Amino acid sequence: MFEARRPLGEYGRADLPVRPALWHELNPDGTLTVHPPRHCPRRHPVPESGTFSWIVALRLHSLLCHRCRDDGHADHQWALIDPAYEQAEAGNATRAGLELVAVAPHEDAAPGRIELHLDGHTIGAATLVVCPQDRLGVLEHVQVDDGIRRRGYGRILALAAFSRLDWYTDRAYWVRGDRRVRALRAAQRGAGYAWTTTLIENTPEARGFAEWLPLPSVGEPRYCRHMLDAAAQFTS
Ligand SMILES: [Zn+2]
Ligand SMILES: [Zn+2]
Repeated sequence: MFEARRPLGEYGRADLPVRPALWHELNPDGTLTVHPPRHCPRRHPVPESGTFSWIVALRLHSLLCHRCRDDGHADHQWALIDPAYEQAEAGNATRAGLELVAVAPHEDAAPGRIELHLDGHTIGAATLVVCPQDRLGVLEHVQVDDGIRRRGYGRILALAAFSRLDWYTDRAYWVRGDRRVRALRAAQRGAGYAWTTTLIENTPEARGFAEWLPLPSVGEPRYCRHMLDAAAQFTS
């Protein structure tokens, strides 16, 4: 799909904004279908005005919109990622390009972390707690290093966190497929989880992020007793 559109020469820009515009669909037989974006963010149709390429520096595909570029928009190329699917775990991270790395909690309902790595260096992280019994998730903190803001990193961290719905430590479900397929299955099982967030900073940037979050409200975390118990053990 992408290969047919890959132009000669590859782009190396590591500072491209990243959009969560790729979607891997899990089919009933365990296979995956990859859905690339059909439009750029300004709704220009990709078949007519888009070109996919490979960003070596990020190890991600990108979309360049020729109409956005011709219209003079500074942002006309975006790296693409599926935050629910394109996640590594600490043990199998490649340490090359831009990678979401999931660091599982030590026990149920304790804090876990999604880190964003660039060539193996942590440049951002989201902290979250998830309780599979109460089907609750709390996004506690999203942080991106200074100097690399406004690239969409906070958004992909938040979306990656929302896809982590069954971080059990003592019950490994066996599901056909590779680790990423297992992650998608977990997301399906977890549909219907209620997510809340802790307080969001009172800065324009943070408020914009809060408004973008696909949640009914922000800044009102809902912790269940399992989360509180895990937190008490964690600190004692
Ligand atoms: Zn466009
Ligand atoms: Zn609970």
